[in-house]
Amino acid sequence: MVSLLLSAIVIIYVGLVIIHAKELAAKIELETYQGVLQAEEISRDLGRQKEVLDSEKEDLQNEALEIFTLYEITKEITKSLNQEQAFEIFKRKLQNHVGFEECRFLEPLSDEVKDLRKEGKYFVLTLQSKRQKIGYLAVSGVSEKEREKVMILGHQFALALRRVQLYQEIEQVAITDSLTEVHTRRYLLERLQEEIQRSKARSLKMSFLMIDVDYFKKFNDQYGHLTGDQILRETGFLISENIREIDIAGRYGGEEFCVILPDTDHEGAQFAAERVRKAVENATIKAYDASVKVTVSIGTSTFPDDGKKTDELIDKADWALYRAKKMGRNRVCSFGVYKDEHD
Ligand code: GH3
Ligand code: MG
Ligand code: MG
Repeated sequence: MVSLLLSAIVIIYVGLVIIHAKELAAKIELETYQGVLQAEEISRDLGRQKEVLDSEKEDLQNEALEIFTLYEITKEITKSLNQEQAFEIFKRKLQNHVGFEECRFLEPLSDEVKDLRKEGKYFVLTLQSKRQKIGYLAVSGVSEKEREKVMILGHQFALALRRVQLYQEIEQVAITDSLTEVHTRRYLLERLQEEIQRSKARSLKMSFLMIDVDYFKKFNDQYGHLTGDQILRETGFLISENIREIDIAGRYGGEEFCVILPDTDHEGAQFAAERVRKAVENATIKAYDASVKVTVSIGTSTFPDDGKKTDELIDKADWALYRAKKMGRNRVCSFGVYKDEHD
């Protein structure tokens, strides 16, 4: 009986132990499961954070690339001295960063812009620097996504182009005589030196004209200095209009002009000088309310026959000019013809 009771107690105890062990196991299992869930949640969180960081890193990389590209474009374009060169550099740079088929530059007054806009094939961008319109960029085959890039790069191109234009304008002002709009004496002397070197290197002749307005003083006396200035200006235009594209006209000083005639011998110089003389003689110059007839005297000298240096060529042409004045003015005198009279 006692052993039966003992057995029952043992069985009950073992049963209780088993129940407790099961409860414990279930609890452990639940806790483990919750741990796994928690670990999964943390891992997902970390994954999300990594994605955000990756995308931020990519944005920063893109931004850095854009800034670098802008810097590169601006730096390179600014080096170029003319519009065509600047555009070619810009196009090359654009090609490296944006996919497109064709990229064209159009002048501010271009009539084509309207048609291109209508056509729809081109993304047309107005290039502006402050309030000044510089022109248009027409780009075809560029995706919607990349248009912003074209706009940013295009803006940089416009600024660089404006800088190129300003540089050219300043250069033009520096080499142009403000009254007569022919070249300044300084520029002319530099070019004369260059032309002598060039002619020497290629064994070519070149000539120089010294032109002086006849009795100019009397125009000033009769009509006043302002009208005198206008007469000088018109004489400068007449000279420029009656020489070749490659010839270089300048104002030597006062009412004296010069012309450099590349690749021209002494007969050629006489012919060119005669054309200028006749053009002035035949013109009626209108200056304010005065209409005047003007004549010029011209002296010519030729490299290398009459001199091999700038000073020599100028002196010989000046001497020939003086000879023309002495002979009665309104005429051309070539140093080569009268050189025997020169000491
Ligand atoms: P010639 O036929 O001997 O050359 O006579 P000329 O009167 O032209 O020569 P002269 O050297 O006696 O006078 C030149 C005049 O040109 C004197 C000067 O006042 C005038 N002159 C020089 N530069 C200018 C200018 O920029 N504007 C005006 N209005 N006159 C000028
Ligand atoms: Mg004079
Ligand atoms: Mg004179």
